[in-house]
Amino acid sequence: MLRIVMYPHPALRYKSRPVERIDDTLREQVREMFSLMYAARGIGLAANQVALPLRVFVLNLTADPEQADQERVFINPQIVKRHSSLVEEEGCLSFPGLYTSVHRAKRIKVRAFGLDGQMFETEAEDLLSRAIQHELDHLDGVLFIDHLGADGKAKVAAKLKEFEGMFTAARQAGEIADEATLKRQLDTLARGEVESVS
Ligand code: ZN
Repeated sequence: MLRIVMYPHPALRYKSRPVERIDDTLREQVREMFSLMYAARGIGLAANQVALPLRVFVLNLTADPEQADQERVFINPQIVKRHSSLVEEEGCLSFPGLYTSVHRAKRIKVRAFGLDGQMFETEAEDLLSRAIQHELDHLDGVLFIDHLGADGKAKVAAKLKEFEGMFTAARQAGEIADEATLKRQLDTLARGEVESVS
């Protein structure tokens, strides 16, 4: 059972490893990621956000499970071109209720593998471009708040403190393992020795 982890869970700061094999386990994990994303009414979810240190993210800009034909899966993605930049408001399922303006490239070209194992290249603009950049950042342990300037950081500081407080409380209640245990679990997962953390 996967679940979406919240800031400041260490999985969100983990640099994920490339996927080496597209198998039933991965296909199931991707299915579960879509379910969690729809349940949270999101348009994108990265594997780091479900504490899986794998270079995979899923998107459906409609956020509508009925529109499954809009689902996209990006495995081992790379941005190969970026054009101009645009500031728009952004949110993240690991920061519920926090929205802030972030600079992103307006247009990108991205290369990735699909669940069928085929490499594809796609050009993306505006919301799709933004979502891909946001999710790809997750795979490197980078969060949207990292792109803020001093003013932006000051604006979100109180909300981040709130998230940190909730995380500490959950940890004290025994719902989240200590830092060293989580780090060990993530390292084990990244080496591909187990399929998920309970
Ligand atoms: Zn996010």
